[in-house]
Amino acid sequence: MRTKIAIIGAGPAGLMLAHLLQRDGIDAVVVESRNRDYIEGRVRAGVLEQTTVNLLERLGISGRMCREGLIHTGTNLAIDGELFRIDMEALTGGSTVMVYGQQEVMRDLFDDAAERGIKIIFEAEGVQLHEVDGSHPFVTWREHGAERRLDCDFIAGCDGFHGVSRPCIPETIRKTFERVYPFGWLGILAEVPPANHELIYANHERGFALASMRSATRSRYYIQCPLDEKLEDWPDERFWDEVSLRLGPATAAHVVRGPAFEKSIAPLRSFVTEPMRHGRLFLAGDAAHIVPPTGAKGLNLAVADVTFLAEALAAYYRSGSALGIDHYSDRALARVWKAERFSWWFTSITHRFPEMDGFARKMQVAELNYIRGSRAAQTMLAENYVGLPLQ
Ligand SMILES: Cc1cc2nc3c(=O)[nH]c(=O)nc-3n(C[C@H](O)[C@H](O)[C@H](O)COP(=O)(O)OP(=O)(O)OC[C@H]3O[C@@H](n4cnc5c(N)ncnc54)[C@H](O)[C@@H]3O)c2cc1C
Repeated sequence: MRTKIAIIGAGPAGLMLAHLLQRDGIDAVVVESRNRDYIEGRVRAGVLEQTTVNLLERLGISGRMCREGLIHTGTNLAIDGELFRIDMEALTGGSTVMVYGQQEVMRDLFDDAAERGIKIIFEAEGVQLHEVDGSHPFVTWREHGAERRLDCDFIAGCDGFHGVSRPCIPETIRKTFERVYPFGWLGILAEVPPANHELIYANHERGFALASMRSATRSRYYIQCPLDEKLEDWPDERFWDEVSLRLGPATAAHVVRGPAFEKSIAPLRSFVTEPMRHGRLFLAGDAAHIVPPTGAKGLNLAVADVTFLAEALAAYYRSGSALGIDHYSDRALARVWKAERFSWWFTSITHRFPEMDGFARKMQVAELNYIRGSRAAQTMLAENYVGLPLQ
């Protein structure tokens, strides 16, 4: 087989890139190691930046999102139970976010991919990238026991944090920057109405909590927990008691309890690899960077990367100019680092760190109170939360 762009991974980055290239008439094939049900079943991101929403609209994949997604014009912070609101729409001149689960985004992307004839190979085993720094790269894998080979002009490594693309950049060239946080998020999904119509990020003496949702009838709650915490130690009632305590009595009064149908613990990490291009291989999304979920940036960053990459590839095939592809890594990383900073900062002011003493906690409370009283500080938070421009 031959194509222009071999895309490794059919997560948000890979599938969004496939749609962008298809719109520009650039031939691409997606090679994915799992099946569609597995990808659609993964409970992950839930907040779409304005830029992600705009892109889905431009691609004509926004029908169900516009009908079923929840537009949020603001978000809330709580200090020991006391709430204040950030009016994102007013502070950013009209930008908002959309609450619409990653599972729903993936379902829409897959449905439309099928209609538009986008080629996706599922359950590809033993995917390998070859000659990424030569002029004739290719990808191999096994499909139902048979060996397959895909020759291409370029490879887009959209295969997430544990994929095979990133290690294809030699260690002598690849730089990594990492921070592993000394806690995780214990999250549940429950078929109950949310406690509040907008998200609440709570800093409490006992640790962070987040009241979120996937729809008007489905709630997503998280609490910060030690990394060695065991799920079996968290029966539903214990979780509801703890999250209610951390959110504070005013919010707790509106928490509707119900059986959790999903419960998991996710570690938190900040991670960036540089550069995001090596020869004819480009990295995008989690393959190149990870953020702690506090800023709701992971999926949105993946979408921003592939927007830049698709623009660069379109310019290359339109005019033969390699300027865009040569600049891709620098352009993407400039935005990635800003999102890394925001996610790290938002995590550091809302979570309880093991080494925190009384002074450190007072600093957190003072910072949150400063945000509460300062339009400038609220604007900084709001413009990062709705998503920085794609420059
Ligand atoms: C538990 C959890 C909760 C999260 N919560 C949030 C949140 O609230 N907000 C937010 O914005 N982000 C969140 N994220 C992050 C967000 O889900 C990711 O940033 C987003 O999925 C990145 O998309 P991606 O396409 O780059 O990578 P992925 O979604 O990881 O997709 C990569 C794809 O590549 C495939 N693949 C892997 N290896 C290979 C291979 N060797 N060959 C072929 N295919 C391969 C995988 O099967 C997968 O389908 C969360 C992540 C996790 C894990």
